[in-house]
Formats: sequence, structure tokens, C-alpha cells
Amino acid sequence: MTQVAVYNAGGEQLLHTVELHHAIRMLVRRVARVREAVVGETFGPYPRPRSLELVRWIFTGWLYHDRGERVPQVSRENVLRRDRYTCAYCGRTGTTYDHIVPRHLGGGTTWLNCVAACEDCNSRRKGGRTLAQAGMTLQFLPFVPEAWELLPRRR
Ligand SMILES: [Zn+2]
Repeated sequence: MTQVAVYNAGGEQLLHTVELHHAIRMLVRRVARVREAVVGETFGPYPRPRSLELVRWIFTGWLYHDRGERVPQVSRENVLRRDRYTCAYCGRTGTTYDHIVPRHLGGGTTWLNCVAACEDCNSRRKGGRTLAQAGMTLQFLPFVPEAWELLPRRR
């Protein structure tokens, strides 16, 4: 498995490493640029990165819990950003977030149990039911994001 180092904007502060496919996603989404390339190797239209540099500087810490975990905080805005403001049930614009397993059934406010949703799906179609009870499916799977995936969208 090839790991690619990710540096903060400016290229001096090493943040973490990611797998190559993850690094390519960052290039595609233009949140990072290649800092060092593997000479003579390409990956699609990109030089194969050895390290990346974020386009925008992030203050490491502002997105994180203070429990020492490097996991961004679950919040409505962060879930919407992770899911790119797309309802996980119908694909329309998401404005809120939904607990896949409802809270009253023990579902937690965690990255893997929360997805962006539109008002319709959240309150009317799904309500306080499970996916199976509501006869609904997810169009994409939730994941635990890294800080760069929560940067505000570039317009
Ligand atoms: Zn929806």
C-alpha cells in the first residue's frame, strides 16, 4: 500500500499520510496540490505524488475533539460538508442530517451513523424509523472524514 504524506499549506507542517487513491481524490477535488512527485510516474492526468500540500492552510485542532482523537467533530455542518450537501437517501440537496439508526433506538451521533438528508427524507419519509422499516436505502455510505474533507466548498 502506497502512502502519501500530506502537508499543510506552505508545505512545512506534516499533517498525516493517506493512501494513494485518497491522495488522488484530494487532487481531483483540488483541495491539495502535488508537493513532491515520483519522477517519471503518473496517475491519470497527475504526476504520481510522493507528498501533497493542502491548498488552504488549516489550523490543526479546530476540527477535533479535545479527547485526543484525531477525529473531526460530528455536527450538522460537518456532516453536510462531508456529504457535499447531498441527501444520502434521494440525492437531492441536503440541508440537515439524519441518524441512520434513530437515536431513540440507540443510534449514536457518530460519523458512521449520520448522513446528510433533505427535510423530506429526514422528517417525512424516514421519520424515526430504521432504513428497513422505512424501506429506504443509502445512496452512499458514511465514513469518518479527515479535516480536509470538511473544508468549505470552493465555489
Ligand atoms: Zn432526500
